[in-house]
Amino acid sequence: MDKSNLKDFFENAKQVSKPDLERLSVETHDEVFKRTDCLSCGNCCKTAPPIVTPADVKRIARFLEKSPKQIIRNFTIQDFNGEMSFDQVPCRFLGDDNYCSIYEVRPEACRDYPHTRSNQFMRRKNLHNKNFEICPAVEEIITIMENKIKEQGLDNV
Ligand code: SF4
Ligand code: SF4
Repeated sequence: MDKSNLKDFFENAKQVSKPDLERLSVETHDEVFKRTDCLSCGNCCKTAPPIVTPADVKRIARFLEKSPKQIIRNFTIQDFNGEMSFDQVPCRFLGDDNYCSIYEVRPEACRDYPHTRSNQFMRRKNLHNKNFEICPAVEEIITIMENKIKEQGLDNV
């Protein structure tokens, strides 16, 4: 699928009921990530700084034996809404082997990436548009979802 086809995909997906879209997004995300080797990619960690919440900061601080203030001061930036994200890409916690050195305590946004396994699939349209260019799994997930919608006639309700 080409990025120019995304608009048509979302237009069509609007016709699908919310429960069907949630089911499709969950099963397709799981199916694609079963065969996706993130360690040979790492593109999200190299290009997209994750949002960091106060709960993430606490967990990471404990793990690194630093204070939450040190984590905030040394590793994050804030946008005009006060939302924090890590301050560097590639992420400072990403190794040359694409392993994350804080994997057990990584931010929720990293765990949830690329945010395609969701009951809010359509509300995340802008995010999917952005991540389509970053994560090869997003293109695959959307292509498979598009085919399943057609095969199962889910857009004809
Ligand atoms: S914290 Fe870990 S998973 Fe998250 S962006 Fe950094 S390297 Fe990647
Ligand atoms: S960009 Fe996608 S495929 Fe690549 S490491 Fe991140 S989640 Fe995995």
